[in-house]
Amino acid sequence: MAEPAPGRRPMDLDRARTTRGTVHVIPERCKECGFCVGYCPEDVLAFSADSNAKGYHYPVLASGREDACVHCGFCNLICPELAIFTTELADDAGGTTS
Ligand code: SF4
Ligand code: SF4
Repeated sequence: MAEPAPGRRPMDLDRARTTRGTVHVIPERCKECGFCVGYCPEDVLAFSADSNAKGYHYPVLASGREDACVHCGFCNLICPELAIFTTELADDAGGTTS
């Protein structure tokens, strides 16, 4: 987290926490529109090497970004096929996908 400008540091900044998320994908619903991959603010997602039964590549965790999901929920909101969602992880757990 970047240090705020002088005089703008919240008194409880040391207690601020970043949420972490587990990414869940339903591959057979995905139509490979790319919204979740392209607009994830943390660059968590990439397209799979495999394709689903309809021939579409679906989102998976990008290499090196396995623990990067912040559970912002944007992928869930933007997916037109309801094919991806996240759940919040406990503070001491790492990110995963299922
Ligand atoms: S919840 Fe947010 S950070 Fe996590 S994969 Fe979706 S868009 Fe990216
Ligand atoms: S937004 Fe939904 S349909 Fe589009 S690539 Fe992501 S999971 Fe697939």
